[in-house]
Amino acid sequence: MHPKEEKTVVIVKPDGVKRGLVGEIVSRLEKRGLKIIALEMFTATKEQIDGHYPKDEAWISRVGSKTLANYEKYGWDAQKELGTADPLKIGTMVRAWLVGYMTSGPLVKMVVKGVHAVDMVRKIAGNTMPAAAEMGTIRGDFSVDDATIANRDKRAIHNLVHASETPEEAQHEIEFWFAPEEIHDYKRAEEDIMF
Ligand code: ADP
Ligand code: MG
Repeated sequence: MHPKEEKTVVIVKPDGVKRGLVGEIVSRLEKRGLKIIALEMFTATKEQIDGHYPKDEAWISRVGSKTLANYEKYGWDAQKELGTADPLKIGTMVRAWLVGYMTSGPLVKMVVKGVHAVDMVRKIAGNTMPAAAEMGTIRGDFSVDDATIANRDKRAIHNLVHASETPEEAQHEIEFWFAPEEIHDYKRAEEDIMF
């Protein structure tokens, strides 16, 4: 595969849609030089969201570990707040909250293509925890949530966008969310000017 062919999936989450940030998010990706090759607003079912997020223990534990790291940083006691300090149990809780969050309103799904698309989009999106996300990132500029408050309310963190984390995850998500005929291709002007 040519390096310019790398693809990733971006989903504007219900908070991003309801706050009118779809254009801003698409614009940031486009202006960087990334190519939008599929785009659609839709409402997901619980089953679809359950199928979207990985089910393997490694992924679930990693989500739990990220939460624990966040708690440690701010001196919060996971056992006291969540009733457990087991990353797998915490990850399982978060996964269930995610289903509620991602079905609470319409989503906008995209396939984005370009050089190192996965890593570039992750960088543009910013840290999972909005309060820790750098300025200049989508999450850092437009959101303010954190695990400590989200978990107290027993809900997922509202962080505006989903972005695939690895090319393998991206491949799974492209096949999961898009039919081949929904993905388009064209040449952007920059391809002759910038690279
Ligand atoms: P990312 O979206 O940055 O890839 P993860 O894959 O680790 O992050 O987690 C998926 C989503 O789950 C996050 O974007 C966020 O909405 C939610 N989430 C993650 N950790 C927590 C948590 N501790 N509490 C509530 N929601 C969480
Ligand atoms: Mg993720």
